[in-house]
Amino acid sequence: MGTKNWNGYGIKEAVELRSSSPEDIENKQLLLLRRHLLHAANVPFYSYLAEQAESPHDLTLDLAATLQGLPLTSRADLDCYPDQFGLTDLAPIHDVALTSGTNGKSVIVPYTEGDLKRLAFNEAVAFYSAGVREKSRVLLTVTLDRCFIAGLAYYSGVTFLGATAIRSGPGQPARQWGLIKSLKPDVIVGVPTFLLELGRWAQKNNVDVAASSVDTIITIGEPARKTDCTLTPVGAAIEEIWQARIYSSYGATEFETAFGECSSGSGGHVHPELMIVEVIDDNGKVLPEGERGEVVVTPLGVEGFPLVRFRTGDIARLYSSSCSCGWNSQRLGPIEGRLAQRLKYRGTTLYPEAIFQVLQDVPGITDCYVEVRNRADGADDVLVVVGSDDALDKRHVESILQARLRVVPKVRISPAKDVLEVMATAGGRKLKKFFDYRS
Ligand SMILES: [Zn+2]
Repeated sequence: MGTKNWNGYGIKEAVELRSSSPEDIENKQLLLLRRHLLHAANVPFYSYLAEQAESPHDLTLDLAATLQGLPLTSRADLDCYPDQFGLTDLAPIHDVALTSGTNGKSVIVPYTEGDLKRLAFNEAVAFYSAGVREKSRVLLTVTLDRCFIAGLAYYSGVTFLGATAIRSGPGQPARQWGLIKSLKPDVIVGVPTFLLELGRWAQKNNVDVAASSVDTIITIGEPARKTDCTLTPVGAAIEEIWQARIYSSYGATEFETAFGECSSGSGGHVHPELMIVEVIDDNGKVLPEGERGEVVVTPLGVEGFPLVRFRTGDIARLYSSSCSCGWNSQRLGPIEGRLAQRLKYRGTTLYPEAIFQVLQDVPGITDCYVEVRNRADGADDVLVVVGSDDALDKRHVESILQARLRVVPKVRISPAKDVLEVMATAGGRKLKKFFDYRS
């Protein structure tokens, strides 16, 4: 394996830590957390931590108690106090990332040299758990420019491992297939919808997809698995067309942390030297293992933009049982939705993502989006707009939603091109799938 390391952690040390007992992992994390808090005290938002440092932390506290004694940090905090977070005077900044700004303004995230190494190590371990090795050739169908951090993370993770990166960037199926034929990558990294499009393009153009060199697919940006960890319809179609194994991943720019699946496909491994993960309820209370709630991440060892207990706004479950791959680090289940998109409907809680996943499975549906408005009784009025050029029966779609979700939102069927136009006009870089008109 490559000899690169971050703070003394290379692949060998990472595997050793994940193979040690949960107690040893937790003790290690407690030490790293205390160090992280001392560093975070240097940024104005966390200056209160300096006072605690003067009267040192209660060293009798365990990991959970230490964390739960600290306030949460929200995305709104980053938006409202942008000058309170970044640390630019302790170490030179080598890269500046911008969040994609889906929830308002972009946040500027400065990376020091150490942060870039940390980023590479994080992605390298995630790739390693998906079976990427020194001899691997990895086709990266993601962009490295426009201040996105994800593309840079994948690229530097590949080189950290000593594997070969093929920086093909997004789009243009014909060009991608040219690269696949000439450079014979065994791993491909991309967004699920694009990888499906790439596979279907090949089928239409008489390329034998299953016979290609690709045997491992790492999906990014969108969920490839449902709550129960089985593949989404798009995920299943990708595996079928490519005859390759999917490894789903999750991460975000603000918390400088990425989770990757191993061969068990039962959630993304938490990387113990890089992050501590909690799942909380609406009141900020930490939930027991396996319960659905908001993911809170404390990224350990970040220099330029340290965060403590950052509320991601994403909904998922955390699992602590040992994994069948032999690692004892926790796993984060598939992202089930965004907290801000939660729908209150007929006494139950529903996320638009669940509706999208059901409708991916229905033949004849090209695209769909969800509209939500306030109702006088405090619940939400949910409308699912479905694009189809077939003579699709509205009641048929409703009965599928009823069977799978146990609730039936209102359904409207419109011509495929009209639905696509609404989603593309509103969405910018991505198609917009959720329209929130609630006050
Ligand atoms: Zn595993």
